[in-house]
Amino acid sequence: MEDEKRIEDEKRIEDETSKELLHKILNSVELLKKEQDALSAKVDSYETQTNDQFKKLQDQLKPNDKNEKSKVKEIQQPKVTSKGSKAYPDIVILTTYPDQFGIKPIPLEWGESDPNVRGPVLASRHPSSIKVRNAIGAYGGSYCVYRALAVAMGALDPQHRPDFQNTEPTVTIGPHPQWGMPDKIVSLDPFGHLTTTLFDSQIAQGLDIRPTIAITKAHMKVAEIENLVKDGRLKVDGNVVLNDSGELNVVKAAVEPVWYLPGVASRFEIDEGTLRRALFEDTGGMYPELITRPDLKVFLPPIGGLSVYIFGNPAFISDPSKRLTVRVHDECNGSDVFGSDICTCRPYLIYGMEESVREAQNGGAGVVVYFRKEGRALGEVIKYLVYNARKRSAGGDTADNYFLRTENVAGVKDMRFQALMPDVLHWLGITKIDRMMSMSNMKYDAIVGSGISIYERVPIPDELIPQDSRVEIDAKIAEGYFSTKKAPTKEELSQVKGRGWDDIQH
Ligand SMILES: [Zn+2]
Repeated sequence: MEDEKRIEDEKRIEDETSKELLHKILNSVELLKKEQDALSAKVDSYETQTNDQFKKLQDQLKPNDKNEKSKVKEIQQPKVTSKGSKAYPDIVILTTYPDQFGIKPIPLEWGESDPNVRGPVLASRHPSSIKVRNAIGAYGGSYCVYRALAVAMGALDPQHRPDFQNTEPTVTIGPHPQWGMPDKIVSLDPFGHLTTTLFDSQIAQGLDIRPTIAITKAHMKVAEIENLVKDGRLKVDGNVVLNDSGELNVVKAAVEPVWYLPGVASRFEIDEGTLRRALFEDTGGMYPELITRPDLKVFLPPIGGLSVYIFGNPAFISDPSKRLTVRVHDECNGSDVFGSDICTCRPYLIYGMEESVREAQNGGAGVVVYFRKEGRALGEVIKYLVYNARKRSAGGDTADNYFLRTENVAGVKDMRFQALMPDVLHWLGITKIDRMMSMSNMKYDAIVGSGISIYERVPIPDELIPQDSRVEIDAKIAEGYFSTKKAPTKEELSQVKGRGWDDIQH
């Protein structure tokens, strides 16, 4: 009884403290907003006047009270003296507010099939665009940080506007009916590759609208494919496989993430407010507008995007009368590029390409989607920490501990959260997949759950599995990954062992 009362008391105190804290935060946000409003109103009204007057305004805004001065000193900015110092206006606009003077975002109706009604995605803080922009974040995904560096170093003029001449897509993708279904696509802009054509008049008027998707053509050479051609296991058709050195003819697209926040929240079955708060807090408070601009529903997150590789006629992808093979791959740099043998990533990726080529040669088409979600989106540092923990486990690196070790280090076993992944398939107009080159139950569930049928799931053939990666693949099969074989038991899993440190020669 006493215990219960104590817990109740503690809970009450906790509740009161958090209420008080919340109140304090709200008050300071309110104060900040008022100050910012006053500041921007002043800046706005002086904007068109001469530099002298602007200087005067700045003097007026300088603190004169002794206390205030010392406060300001504490948060004094590092000196700006380098070449890039003239890149930005003297006054920093920390954030904006919906009812602020001059703020008038251009309309953006997510999920509208008519691009003129939908409107462009405008994320720029360029002086021509900051007041009318309708998206939070910056163009370029994670590369916006490099852009900032280039500006800071004086290597890039922040006012530089891209010359889009001849940058248009090399093939036509869409429009597809899915583009006008608000719940089908929430993590990329379906019109992202058509921006410069659809919104050319707004761009000509000075708005800094940029494409978030680019589509091009290429030839590519992959050692494994070359061997298949040399061994006669893949034929040269002059269209998909161009010659006996295995050169492939592809159409490829690069896609940057564009998130419609209410749609992303609903995919994860959370509320938009929680999503915004988490994105604000866990990026070190990088995007205050996630909090101050509830009217802006679109966010360009600073993360990697994806690439699409198309084998065969791109028009066949959305044609239900043509067969389609698909591999959706999440980045694994160690295996994909450097050939590390602890996992099956590169072998499965190449197998996905091989089968896509075959499908295209047989009159269908193949698609390989490559997501920048390194190490199950936990990142490569976490991944290597887990490798060490696995190899140093008492009893060795066994399949039964595979997911547990990841969870010990990262707190979760996977952060790829495949819920957003099918968006790119809907962008391509895919309605069914004949052959899905994946064993992942998460990918399968996400795709089928989004309304795309999968007729056949194709596991990686045994002969393509590197010895050391049996740990990973068996752990995954036991966890529910698709396999044509029986899932291993707990006892069997503990017998599947990877290489120990002693076997690795340095
Ligand atoms: Zn891998």
